Amino acid sequence: MIQNIWAVGRNYAEHAKEMGQAPTLKPMFFLKSGSCISEGDSFSLPAWAKEIHHEIELAFQVDQNLQISAWALALDLTERQLQSDAKKAGQPWTLAKSFKGACPLSPLITDLEWSNLKSLEIELKINGQIRQSGGLDQMIFKPADLLAFVKEHFPLTPGDLILTGTPAGVGPLKSGDLLEARVGNLLSHQWRVNF
Ligand code: ZN
Repeated sequence: MIQNIWAVGRNYAEHAKEMGQAPTLKPMFFLKSGSCISEGDSFSLPAWAKEIHHEIELAFQVDQNLQISAWALALDLTERQLQSDAKKAGQPWTLAKSFKGACPLSPLITDLEWSNLKSLEIELKINGQIRQSGGLDQMIFKPADLLAFVKEHFPLTPGDLILTGTPAGVGPLKSGDLLEARVGNLLSHQWRVNF
C-alpha cells in the first residue's frame, strides 16, 4: 500500500516561469495523501471543482530499503483556482492538491534505472495535441537529490511515491479528454476523463 506521495513543485525552470515564480534553492515539497491514487485508464473530475489542471510527472517508488525500485507516470491533478487563492492568502494547498482521486497513476515499472530515462523527454498529449513536454535532464533537482532531501526531512515509508515535478504547459481538463503520456518509449499510459 502506498501511504504517502511526496511531490515537488517548480522543478523545471520553464514551468516555474509560467506560474510566475522563480525556481527554489531547495526542493519545495508538498504532500498528496497516498489514498489520492487512482489506478486504471480513466478518472473523474470532482463535481465541486472549477478548474482542474493536468501536471504530468515522472514518479518513482521506494522499496523496503528506501531505494528507488520502480517508475511510473503520474498526474498531479491540481485545482488551480483554489491553489491560486491559497497562495494569495498564505494558506496550505491541501484542498487544491490532495482531493479524492488527485493522483491518477500508471502501472509501476521495475526494470528501469534513471540512467535509462535521463536523456528522454516526458510528454503529454491531450486529444492528439502535445500540451506538455520537457527533457528529464531539465529537472533542477534530480531523482537522487529529491530522494536524499525526503529521507533527511520526512518520514519516508517503504512503498511511498515521489513525484518529480511537471514541465511547462499545464492547463485545464474537461470531461471526455483523452490524455496520452509517455517518457520516450520506456513509459506510456493513457487516461480518459469520465463524463
Ligand atoms: Zn506537480
